Amino acid sequence: MGDFSVNLENLISDLRRIVGDKWVVTQREFMEGYLRDETPDPVRPRAAEGLILVKPSSAEDVAGILKLANANKVPVFPVGGRTGLVGGSVPIKPGIILSLERMNKIEVDRENIMAVAEAGATLGDLIKAADEAGLFFPPHPGDEGAQIGGLIATNAGGSRAVKYGVMRNYIRGLEIVLPTGEILSLGGKLLKNNTGYDLMQLAIGCEGTLCVITKAVIRLFPKSKVMVTLVVPFNTRSDALKTVPEILRSGVMPLAIEYVQIREIEEAAKHLNERWPVQRGFAQLIMILDGASQEEMLLRCEEISEICESNSAMDIMLAETAEEQSRILRIRSNIYTALKPHMIDILDVTVPPSNLEKLMNEVDVIAAKYDVYLPAYGHAGDGNLHVHIMKEGVTDMRMADRIKSEIYKAAVALGGVITGEHGVGSLRIKDLGLVLSEKHIEIMESIKRIFDPNNILNPNKVLP
Ligand SMILES: Cc1cc2nc3c(=O)[nH]c(=O)nc-3n(C[C@H](O)[C@H](O)[C@H](O)COP(=O)(O)OP(=O)(O)OC[C@H]3O[C@@H](n4cnc5c(N)ncnc54)[C@H](O)[C@@H]3O)c2cc1C
Repeated sequence: MGDFSVNLENLISDLRRIVGDKWVVTQREFMEGYLRDETPDPVRPRAAEGLILVKPSSAEDVAGILKLANANKVPVFPVGGRTGLVGGSVPIKPGIILSLERMNKIEVDRENIMAVAEAGATLGDLIKAADEAGLFFPPHPGDEGAQIGGLIATNAGGSRAVKYGVMRNYIRGLEIVLPTGEILSLGGKLLKNNTGYDLMQLAIGCEGTLCVITKAVIRLFPKSKVMVTLVVPFNTRSDALKTVPEILRSGVMPLAIEYVQIREIEEAAKHLNERWPVQRGFAQLIMILDGASQEEMLLRCEEISEICESNSAMDIMLAETAEEQSRILRIRSNIYTALKPHMIDILDVTVPPSNLEKLMNEVDVIAAKYDVYLPAYGHAGDGNLHVHIMKEGVTDMRMADRIKSEIYKAAVALGGVITGEHGVGSLRIKDLGLVLSEKHIEIMESIKRIFDPNNILNPNKVLP
């Protein structure tokens, strides 16, 4: 096992000394779940042989592991909940898989309306802890098994980002461990901080290539007194999408504005043995609204309904109970899971929101050209579109690659980027040049060398 130069027995016994015997796993059958993420099988990178799974319990443990790995030039792969969609956490070289799952404490500070969460706590844990303290953590990037460290390392977005933003907007402080083993504390329970270059912002979205995130100070919000979910059906995509900027301009800012099409949302419902509550229309908008009182909510719903109806919306469904609303969100979050067995890749191209319809029209042209099914849906309020390249009609991986390239080029031509939330990971490296200049990539490489001089941390991810 292992092809690094260090004596393997010594490495394993040093790791055991740091975290305890029980938390160093060397048998492959006990690390299977750590060898892959949620990336569709046809494009997911394969895990290497020669891996050791290590589960630290503190930042000091993480520092000890990284110091040891750095001294011996052993690759380290930080993993979270393994829900990523670009192969970011897959250990593609012999080395150490670093799971922070034992570091899962969350403390809510009601005075400052913030939580201090260890990196191994899950999104589900954070939503629950905030709720129990009478507070609210708005973002919902799909899979509640994602961990705080992974959510921050990918700067996750999700469906409730329209009103309050993506992960970056919530992070006020971080504890990180550098690949060389030093522990850094960045920011804090602060709403303003202009002290020097903001290294915290570099750590957010670094996809485990610059540091290991061990703890975070996360901003929370007061719990909304009233929340409703609207499902608005339209006969055409154009009607649905031209409604979105009008809503955004109206001053009523929904937490989420999701665009779905009836075929895929029904498939997701079927996958969960549920029934999608709105059977009308080709295209639908799902909107989540919050407010301070029933009266305020009623006014907001009326205003939104008027805008939708002026764009030919059909009967609008209003979900008021918490159960019905979470059922709708659960079905929406499972479109990916339902389609995954038939899928080659999931793209998350992002354009200025007003160009979303043009992008979807381009995707239609590409689908017709190759005679393939390219289901597309997404976070319409953010201009973030998930296009799935399905197996149906795609004869080989070269054809899948050509389809992907054409979608990327269409997005970039519309002022967009190749990824709005999933990140680069392993999968998007070769397309970075479509968006970033050579100089930009050169600066990223220099930053990587400063943080990680021996290139031990999540090597061959993000950067070419
Ligand atoms: C059904 C489904 C729906 C989804 N919907 C959305 C969505 O709407 N929006 C969205 O943004 N994403 C979505 N995702 C993607 C996914 O949930 C996110 O990418 C998530 O943020 C990854 O968190 P994780 O803990 O699973 O990280 P992992 O997948 O384990 O790792 C992701 C990356 O983070 C790094 N990492 C993990 N932990 C740490 C750490 N402690 N320190 C440093 N680096 C670390 C890894 O090395 C890797 O590069 C969805 C996924 C699924 C399966």
